[in-house]
Amino acid sequence: MSEKTIPYKIYLEESEMPKQWYNVRADMKNKPAPLLNPATLQPMTYEELRPVFCDELIKQELDDTTPYIDIPQEIRDFYKMYRPSPLVRAYCLEKKLDTPAKIYYKFEGNNTSGSHKLNSAIAQAYYAKKQGLKGVTTETGAGQWGTALSMACAYLELDCKVYMVKVSYEQKPFRREVMRTYGASVTPSPSETTAVGRKILAAHPGTTGSLGCAISEAVEAATSQEGYRYVLGSVLNQVLLHQTVIGLETKAALDKYDITPDIIIGCAGGGSNLGGLISPFMGEVLRGEKNYRFIAVEPASCPSFTRGKFAYDFCDTGMVCPLAKMYTLGSGFIPSANHAGGLRYHGMSSILSQLYHDGLMEAVAVEQTSVFQAAEQFARVEGILPAPESSHAIKVAIDEALKCKETGEEKTIVFGLTGTGYFDMTAYQKFNDGEMRDSIPTDEDLQAGFDGIPRFQGNEF
Ligand SMILES: *Cc1c(COP(=O)(O)O)cnc(C)c1O
Repeated sequence: MSEKTIPYKIYLEESEMPKQWYNVRADMKNKPAPLLNPATLQPMTYEELRPVFCDELIKQELDDTTPYIDIPQEIRDFYKMYRPSPLVRAYCLEKKLDTPAKIYYKFEGNNTSGSHKLNSAIAQAYYAKKQGLKGVTTETGAGQWGTALSMACAYLELDCKVYMVKVSYEQKPFRREVMRTYGASVTPSPSETTAVGRKILAAHPGTTGSLGCAISEAVEAATSQEGYRYVLGSVLNQVLLHQTVIGLETKAALDKYDITPDIIIGCAGGGSNLGGLISPFMGEVLRGEKNYRFIAVEPASCPSFTRGKFAYDFCDTGMVCPLAKMYTLGSGFIPSANHAGGLRYHGMSSILSQLYHDGLMEAVAVEQTSVFQAAEQFARVEGILPAPESSHAIKVAIDEALKCKETGEEKTIVFGLTGTGYFDMTAYQKFNDGEMRDSIPTDEDLQAGFDGIPRFQGNEF
């Protein structure tokens, strides 16, 4: 077989970029469980979701059957400003590891927000604008999602209110300023500006906040103001749908050179980049056409897949959101304060949870010092300073490549490099100073989180 020389970077032409997102739910035999109304425990209807989410996005959220959904021209035009993103052959890393494995990564950090989150931010802002709304509210943890959304809102001239987890607001002032530069208002959460924020502050004075808590505030801010809706940067089906642009581009680039991956790896926070990357490949598996190994990588300090329960749970601390069936640590779970590696959300995408439950995907949990070691090794040979989140995937890609070295197998490994780490230098500083520690929750720690999962008939776990 004649093998074409694989360039360092495989780019697509603009004309080869995806024109439709792929909805993997259409090919799933076991569909992800629907969102439930916490009061009635019945599936949330379109009408019930309307006060919270944009109309078109609700349709996408509830659509389990349409395999391909057109990407509107305006969104495709915006994508062209920073996409297609390169699929990079990690020749230098392969050489350094002395492995027969072939390693590729899809790099999503080439935009100002520094991550893949812009792929969904522009879509969500577009549908809000099209509906004639004034603005959107959201939460942000580390700040990537808030930055991405503020960029998208600036482009479409929408108001953007961001509730930023207080500890990040204080530790990442530059992230905050990027958002403000794009015109967003940024409030540290929990705050006095919402009823749920005041309640959380009264119960836990001095709390540094959590994503679940910021979500509650952002939802309240959206539903209590005329012309606003809430948008979320991960976990939801619609977000995973938008992120399939990553997987579709990856597949098109690999197909150009007749490359078939053996293993596809991604980090998993709420599951959007991983879901987006693997969806087109998972579709082939679900239709019985191909076989791949998929590996979700999560932090050992926030191990939703590997130690969580598969159950209906609240998506937020204030329990104002619908219930989602997912692998969860309980909505009250907050990772240890010395956890610096991102991916802190207590739950996981319902789609990925179902696929994992059905044995179609694997998951591993890794400790943060080993993640930063992998990040350092990668940065030194491949040049890119990776985000701590992305480095979880690097860690496992390296582990798999080293296994190939032992066995002599020439496996092809593809992983998602979701972003850059320029705003994570406090974490890198800790690592460089030798002050980074691993913290793995005990079974008792986890039990406290599980105790907060709602109990009702049909929700045994
Ligand atoms: C938000 C983020 C993640 C995790 O979110 P997912 O929804 O799991 O993809 C991973 N990497 C980076 C750089 C991020 O900003």
